[in-house]
Amino acid sequence: MYTDLKDQLTAELAEIEQAGTFKHERVISTAQSNRITAGPIGRDGAEVLNFCANNYLGLADDQRLLDAAKTALDERGFGMASVRFICGTQDLHLELEQAVSAFLGTEDTILFSSCFDANGAVFEPLFGKEDAIISDELNHASLIDGIRLSKAARFRYRNGDLEDLRAQLEAAAALNDGKGARRTIIVTDGVFSMDGYLAPLPGICDLAEEFGALVMVDDSHAVGFMGESGAGTPEHFGVSDKIDIFTGTFGKALGGASGGYVAGRREIVAMLRQKGRPYLFSNSLAPAIVAATLAALELVKGSGALRETLFRNAELFRRRMGEEGFELLDGEHAIVPVMFGDAALAGRIADQMLEHGVYVTAFSYPVVPQGKARIRVQLSAAHTEEDVEAAVQAFVAARDAVQAA
Ligand SMILES: *Cc1c(COP(=O)(O)O)cnc(C)c1O
Repeated sequence: MYTDLKDQLTAELAEIEQAGTFKHERVISTAQSNRITAGPIGRDGAEVLNFCANNYLGLADDQRLLDAAKTALDERGFGMASVRFICGTQDLHLELEQAVSAFLGTEDTILFSSCFDANGAVFEPLFGKEDAIISDELNHASLIDGIRLSKAARFRYRNGDLEDLRAQLEAAAALNDGKGARRTIIVTDGVFSMDGYLAPLPGICDLAEEFGALVMVDDSHAVGFMGESGAGTPEHFGVSDKIDIFTGTFGKALGGASGGYVAGRREIVAMLRQKGRPYLFSNSLAPAIVAATLAALELVKGSGALRETLFRNAELFRRRMGEEGFELLDGEHAIVPVMFGDAALAGRIADQMLEHGVYVTAFSYPVVPQGKARIRVQLSAAHTEEDVEAAVQAFVAARDAVQAA
């Protein structure tokens, strides 16, 4: 029975390969860090500087997190073998939920196995066919999928475009024979990962107020390091009290293992505990991850030192790359896109970078618009100034090598 499908898939895989969009993984044989050993599958790896992890605060191999995880392994075991509501809730889970609430300044928090699951859980229980969900066109795939699971009317606005958002809010207000949607929510990433651009939250919150809409921010690329205390883009813009639903991941700045959350209004979180399908039907977070994430939050709360290092590195990289004549997208985030335009060129530069001991990734259409191919560099607090300068020098050398070829 499989023969036909096998042939079809083989042909389709070959097409992906020919289109140059096949995702080849590299194998890392060290902990995630600024320096890793990495290589193609089946070949020996080499030591390289890593500039493409979401390890913004450098906590992925931090000894304090490892210690917390080891203690939890010893004291609370490896896994829960249950979902939360049957027999999978440990005191640690409640502690982490309270810690996230305190960190973000929300009334309550509910944990998920990932932010993908958090976004998959939110919409279906809260928004039905009388409701409207208005989503930024560049929102993360998990938001798009989560929104699809609800029966609400869907509207999409151009990335960060407040005028278009207003037009979509007006369209939502015309639903239900002009009575308007029962509930309207504006959904946005806090930071858009391909550009490092921040969502215009103050303008979004103003429009939400004007139209009586809710606001949801997925702050996965900001929680832990954006904002004065690391609470993310709402804190950065001073609009935390206007956000109704926060989602985010523990899989980036906050240790980088896994796990996600929905935080916000008490009743919203309470409803997700009753009806959020990824919460009801998927396993509890492992105790070691919960304990290490608690340790990560403690660290972030206790000191701004890692955040300062991160942004110093990002500034240094932006400045030095500008001096060397590279075109960057403007911004303040630790995501720094180095623009090459042509997809093949960006790919060749990335390959050359690896030859020079720096691991970065090129992105091209359809992940970014046609003609906007780039190498997305991500800075980390784990990088030293020497690491940053080495990355700049590798870019210069890669450019020279590609131009000479
Ligand atoms: C990374 C990311 C996610 C997914 O987070 P996981 O916890 O890895 O599932 C969701 N939303 C955004 C905006 C992200 O950047």
